[in-house]
Amino acid sequence: MSLPTIKRVLLKLSGEVLMGNQQFGIDPEFVAELAKEVKAAKETGLEICLVIGGGNIFRGMAGAAKGMDRAQADYMGMLATVMNALAMQNALEQLGVQTRVQSAIEMDKVCEPVIRRRAERHLEKGRVAIFAAGVGAPYFTTDSGAALRAAEMKCDALLKGTSVDGVYDSDPKHNPDAVRFDTVTYDRVLADNLKVMDASAVALCRDNKIPIVVFSIREKGNLARVLAGEGVQTIVQDL
Ligand code: UDP
Repeated sequence: MSLPTIKRVLLKLSGEVLMGNQQFGIDPEFVAELAKEVKAAKETGLEICLVIGGGNIFRGMAGAAKGMDRAQADYMGMLATVMNALAMQNALEQLGVQTRVQSAIEMDKVCEPVIRRRAERHLEKGRVAIFAAGVGAPYFTTDSGAALRAAEMKCDALLKGTSVDGVYDSDPKHNPDAVRFDTVTYDRVLADNLKVMDASAVALCRDNKIPIVVFSIREKGNLARVLAGEGVQTIVQDL
């Protein structure tokens, strides 16, 4: 099973990949490496929307587990995603790639608000559109934000670049016999609670027929390989 022709893609990066080999925060050298991958993908003629998580800085669930109010903690998580978006914007622009950041929580000193038609224009002009602050509401994750933006920007696929090379039938970090799927259906992911994205993100992609491609962004050149249909990945779509 292969992907349809991709002209416009939404690339979702987990916040943790911005840490590089650190335990926390942002490693500018690693962000620069990621930016090179995005630039190379863009030079193949793709239109690119980017969503970056915030887990390298703060996750609402972790705050709530330590007694914080969940919504308050989630707003902190959303602000973390804006920091990551600005770091990626900086890295891309240092490579000469034009970008715009649009945040679902308005902060007009640092970026634009999310305006779909304006984002369309950015893509037409060859800019990378970076969407920050998820859906702008607590009790969601940036996976849901990525699915939402992929749907409204009519992306041909949602690429989830993370630290594992696909979707497994059990956690490969704990089970050495875990088996990676080449393709798997949305319904199987939801029924078996496979760790791809949260359920609302998977359902939104299923309802809008957006394939989800899960791959490791940690190896150099992997984004280009995946886009060329050559990489190690799992594609989530209807069979
Ligand atoms: N978040 C939220 N609403 C959203 C997107 C994110 O409340 O629409 C918060 C939530 O607390 C989440 C944190 O922002 O834990 C960071 O995002 P996420 O965990 O999705 O980052 P990732 O795991 O991709 O690094």
